Amino acid sequence: MVITYPSKNHIVSLPFGYDASNDKDYKTFYELFDNKHPGIDFDLPENSKIYSSINGIVVRKEFHQGMGNTLGIRNGNILSIYAHLNEILVNPGQIILQDTFVALSGNTGMATSSAHLHFELRDLSKTVLKNMVFEPIFNIEISNFKNEFIYKVNNKNIPKNALNISERYFGTLDFAKLILERNNLDLKYDTIFPEGLELIIPNFRNQ
Ligand SMILES: [Zn+2]
Repeated sequence: MVITYPSKNHIVSLPFGYDASNDKDYKTFYELFDNKHPGIDFDLPENSKIYSSINGIVVRKEFHQGMGNTLGIRNGNILSIYAHLNEILVNPGQIILQDTFVALSGNTGMATSSAHLHFELRDLSKTVLKNMVFEPIFNIEISNFKNEFIYKVNNKNIPKNALNISERYFGTLDFAKLILERNNLDLKYDTIFPEGLELIIPNFRNQ
C-alpha cells in the first residue's frame, strides 16, 4: 500500500514524533503517546480540500473533544485519521478511492490553536494505542500493511458482538455477517463474543 498526501499543500507545521513533554495545554493527551506527537500537522488555511490518503472504508465520522470533527478511513490494518475538520463530505460505511476529496480542513476541537490538518496513521494489528501510531511516509510502499488482522476480544467497557465490531471496523452494521462467516462462528449478530477470542477482522473487500 502507498500512502498519498491528504492535502495539496505539504507544509508540515509539526512533525511526527515531535517531543511534546513541555506542552502544558495538551499534557494528558500527549501522555497517551509517551509525549510524542502521534501524527503530522499540515499548515492549511481553513476549508482547504482534504483527500483520502488510502483506498478504504469510512469507519469514523464524529466530533471528538480534542481532535474536533474527525474522519477515519480504514484499509486492512491501516487506519488513516483526519482531524480538526470543518466539514466531512463522506459517510460511515462508504468505500472511498485514494485521492478522493473527502473533507474541508479547519480548526475544530480543543487540541488546536490555529487552522491545520492533523493526519495520523494507526496500525490496528497492534494492541496499545501508543504502539499503533506510526510515521506516515508518502508515495512509497509501506511494509506493515495487512489485508486482515486479529482483534482480541475485550469486553471490559463494551461487550463485543458482530454488530458493534462491524460498526467499529466498517462504520456500519452491514458487515456483521461477513465477520461471523470469516471466523466460522455460528452465532447471532448480537451474541457476546467470549473474552479473549481472537477474531479475524476481514477487509471490506478482498484485494
Ligand atoms: Zn497534530
